[in-house]
Amino acid sequence: MKAAPEAQKRLLDLAELDSVIDRLAHRRRTLPELAEIDERSKLFAKLATQVIEAETESGDLAREQAKAESDVDAVRTRADRDQKRLDSGAVTSPRDLSSLQSEITSLNKRQGDLEEVVLEIMERREAADAKAGDLVTQRDEVRAALSTAEDRRDAALTEIDKESGEVRGRRADTTGDIPADLLKLYEKLREQYGVGAAMLHGGRCQGCKVALSIAEMNRIKGAPHDEVLRCEECRRILVRTAESGL
Ligand SMILES: [Zn+2]
Repeated sequence: MKAAPEAQKRLLDLAELDSVIDRLAHRRRTLPELAEIDERSKLFAKLATQVIEAETESGDLAREQAKAESDVDAVRTRADRDQKRLDSGAVTSPRDLSSLQSEITSLNKRQGDLEEVVLEIMERREAADAKAGDLVTQRDEVRAALSTAEDRRDAALTEIDKESGEVRGRRADTTGDIPADLLKLYEKLREQYGVGAAMLHGGRCQGCKVALSIAEMNRIKGAPHDEVLRCEECRRILVRTAESGL
């Protein structure tokens, strides 16, 4: 393949721009915020589930407490009613009186037992509420940190995309100076090897850093200026400049 030396040199500008584009793409993929967001998202999901579990437990205990309190009320109402009957003097038979008194005693004891149950549920509920509150605080902290990390990620991506857009604009200008067949070869090599063209610098390929043999250097010295050369080692287009050591 033949191409004007100036067009070949433009390949080096293109390779430089492509390496910037690759670096930006790499930065885009490996932003530290991405790992941070991933980690915090997982933690947030875990805490959100724990909050639901804790709030469910609190709700269950609230219902349990209401039920126990209503049991206490029912027993108290019954004991009050019995007490009123006793106080009214309407019951006169000693057997009935004794039975009524015994029922009141038994109801009072039952009420005491049920009040113990209420207290025990209240304690458990208090602990469950505290746990739920603590988890809500943790979840909200993680959500806030996640949101901050997302903002930082977005700002970094905007900056990278802006820079990338500028470099791509310069790349488009550069490719305009390169003949279609040479550009096609460059693109093919770039796809294969990551870098399409390298400078021959001081007898060394700048792509693979391998020094060319004397025979190879002699062959290049004898080659026409418009011949498109390839590095024997890395197959990239080898571009001659004033610093090639020829
Ligand atoms: Zn090479």
